[in-house]
Amino acid sequence: MTSGTPQITLYNTLTRTKERFVPLDANNVRMYVCGPTVYDFAHIGNARPVIVFDVLFRLLRHVYGAEHVTYVRNITDVDDKINARALRDFPDLPLNEAIRRVTEKTETQFLSDARALGTLEPTVQPRATDNIAEMQALIGSLLQRGHAYNAAGEVLFDTTSMPDYGQLSGRNLEDNLAGARIAVDAHKKNPADFVLWKQSSDSEPGWDSPWGRGRPGWHIECSAMSERYLGQTFDIHGGGLDLIFPHHENEIAQSRCAHGTHAMANIWMHNGFLQVEGQKMSKSLGNFVTINELLETDKFGGRKWPGEVLRLAMLMTHYREPIDFSVKRLEEARATWLNWRDAVRRFIPEDGQIPASILEALEDDLNTPLAIANLAKAEAKDAVAAGYFMGLISDHDLRYARKARQELKAGIHDAVERAFSSAAADDLAAIGVEASEVGGQVAARLAALNAKDFAKADAIRNELAEQGIALMDYKDEAGQRQTRWEVKR
Ligand code: AMP
Ligand code: ZN
Repeated sequence: MTSGTPQITLYNTLTRTKERFVPLDANNVRMYVCGPTVYDFAHIGNARPVIVFDVLFRLLRHVYGAEHVTYVRNITDVDDKINARALRDFPDLPLNEAIRRVTEKTETQFLSDARALGTLEPTVQPRATDNIAEMQALIGSLLQRGHAYNAAGEVLFDTTSMPDYGQLSGRNLEDNLAGARIAVDAHKKNPADFVLWKQSSDSEPGWDSPWGRGRPGWHIECSAMSERYLGQTFDIHGGGLDLIFPHHENEIAQSRCAHGTHAMANIWMHNGFLQVEGQKMSKSLGNFVTINELLETDKFGGRKWPGEVLRLAMLMTHYREPIDFSVKRLEEARATWLNWRDAVRRFIPEDGQIPASILEALEDDLNTPLAIANLAKAEAKDAVAAGYFMGLISDHDLRYARKARQELKAGIHDAVERAFSSAAADDLAAIGVEASEVGGQVAARLAALNAKDFAKADAIRNELAEQGIALMDYKDEAGQRQTRWEVKR
């Protein structure tokens, strides 16, 4: 842990209050965030949790130490939308191969988008299809403990078997009943019951199981992967608001009932929606623009938008508030970012300190708008350090700034040396000594020194001293021994 007692507070959807964050184990702070379903390019709304939880990851690493934080973000690579996309795009390939093409391509794209948005890689990015056995084990124990049943070829979770089902979303089973009248789920004991395992036809992907060849429901994958990498109870679970119900509610039901625990995660965090004209950006509404289109094309607002600008546009608003996504917002973020870029060219973060006012803002339920406002007030070199910490200034910019600064340093050094030698040459001329002659002797002495022939080096020094020429040894930028001379007065 770094200095002092960390005072992170986070809003917990489960308790509907802002709570002091106390990790279960400060040596291994554990966070799980639901990741993308890899069937198509992610839109900029999907980028919001990616960016928000990256800020939290960075803050936790800062407070508890980078090696003491485990961040898991899964890849959902089994889903009916993926099957449909595989059949549409690769109708001539065997299904498994077609699915692999879709998921690999989409996953690669997602990872490249996430990188462009300045996010650190999560510690683990497990794929659902690599965790089928873990899901089956969980389903097995839910059946064994009487929390699940078989019906019409499906294994379903029995919501009435969990007395406090619905805590996260504040829904009770009657609410769910009312909403379920339209559903044709005659095989369910209760309308709120949900699928853990369903049978697959020959044209659907499937895995052998005690309940026939089939595939998992969506929720069970996160229960299985979080357990595998973070344990039965961990610190923070995150995602967008739309995941509270049913996804997170059902993850909690599965994990707690399978393990007999009181909590799956202690703190549940949800980011607000990115909206377009008051409506949630979503694939189904068609009101979306992909991260890739923003980065690579001028489709939105007539220009490409650097990842840092998209990130800043996102963090200018508190993560729980809705964001209205517009060109105006991006232009505003861009103008701010261009100023910062300018500062980066003059300062690099080794010089600066992250101001306490910025850390404190982030520690207060990730108050990024306040952190950004404080960044604008900070001394430039500290603002650069803080901007880098928040992922708003990229490694790329820093690398260039560092290089430029090295060149500048070396340039100044060379200029000083040139001025010095030219002054020394004037003095030598005044006493009738050739500069090249002295240069030759100095070089010979340096060679002697490097060969550890100190007697010879001293002899040359004395010879020059007799002519009134003093030598000064120093190390250059590269650590090489150099000698400067000067005519004594
Ligand atoms: P999905 O691929 O739809 O499961 O979404 C992946 C993540 O993006 C989830 O955490 C969603 O809650 C989040 N998400 C989807 N749409 C939006 C949006 N318009 N604004 C903010 N978050 C979103
Ligand atoms: Zn999930």
